[in-house]
Amino acid sequence: MTAPLPCNMEALSLIVTPLCAWYGKYARPLPWREGSDPYHIWLSEVMLQQTRIEAVKPYYARFLAAAPTVSALAALPDDRLMKLWEGLGYYSRARNLKRAAQAICEKHGGVLPADYEALRALPGIGDYTAGAIASIAFGLPYPAVDGNVLRVVTRLVGDEDDILRPETKKRITAALTEVYRTAPDPAALTQGLMELGEVVCMPNRAPLCEECPLAALCRARAEGSWDHIPYRAPKKGRKIIRKLVLMLHDENGCYAIRRRPEDGLLAGLWELPQLDLPDALADGDDAALDELARDFCRRHGLIAAESAAAPAARHIFTHLEWHMQGRFLNVKQEETVDGLLFVSADELASTYALPTAFRAYARVIYGK
Ligand code: SF4
Repeated sequence: MTAPLPCNMEALSLIVTPLCAWYGKYARPLPWREGSDPYHIWLSEVMLQQTRIEAVKPYYARFLAAAPTVSALAALPDDRLMKLWEGLGYYSRARNLKRAAQAICEKHGGVLPADYEALRALPGIGDYTAGAIASIAFGLPYPAVDGNVLRVVTRLVGDEDDILRPETKKRITAALTEVYRTAPDPAALTQGLMELGEVVCMPNRAPLCEECPLAALCRARAEGSWDHIPYRAPKKGRKIIRKLVLMLHDENGCYAIRRRPEDGLLAGLWELPQLDLPDALADGDDAALDELARDFCRRHGLIAAESAAAPAARHIFTHLEWHMQGRFLNVKQEETVDGLLFVSADELASTYALPTAFRAYARVIYGK
């Protein structure tokens, strides 16, 4: 019988010294690591949720140039905010950033509070972001537990519970919180865990255990169980909604857009007009799509002339998928069109943020 490895939930604090030393030596230089400004840490953490580091870098630089302080963010017009966020997706993140910035100005004099509970009370700041800001910017003893950290810890201790269950995350957060109580450098510990999960103990491929500073402590490595840890119970399928997206082009070369409702999916954002397709309509039935598009035009005071197929596209949200077919129509405005705004390709590119779901159509209009 082999001797038990030292790393289990109770002995997790053994990771602190080797992990922080490794981070000190190998941390990648990233723009938000250049200092410890809490606003910069906050912004980067929000942008990095669901988004790759390389994709975030240009957004981060542009955003800070437009809103260099919390009070500048609080005063940013909504359309400008959405334009700065265009393409990053999950737009509620941007709206919550601004709402939180306004709350920070009202309650904390425009400075992020050095207090976990006060951070947690701000709009859009959950346990993860509060822990990241508290530990990285203020050196406070709070973990930031996301998918990367769950993967590293469950592998280290050989935990095979479903990481999608709240109880599992709660248990791991509690164990890490104990570790943080005595950790000399919470900022290095948080960033070390994140970095290890991003560049060594990675998702969807074999971990680079030979390069891992925690290899000697790791159960998954010793037991060869990394390929089924972390465990996730299979998800139920996403709901599929089929849509017809309309590219309505007027005699001035402008395209119709409209605002989405103020609540629900992509709330308050601009979109190309679109409608749900009836279940009975077969994919690729151009004649039926054309009739639906012309009916939409009639109901909105538009005279439709030539029509052609526009791109088909798919977009995956967390719980549903849009399967889109497109129709391009040249139109004339017969009367004032209620709810539709006709804008040029330049205006669309510079002023009105189209959500990523419409990327295939935006590419046709302004090449992005
Ligand atoms: S030894 Fe391998 S599996 Fe274990 S934490 Fe390091 S990279 Fe991940």
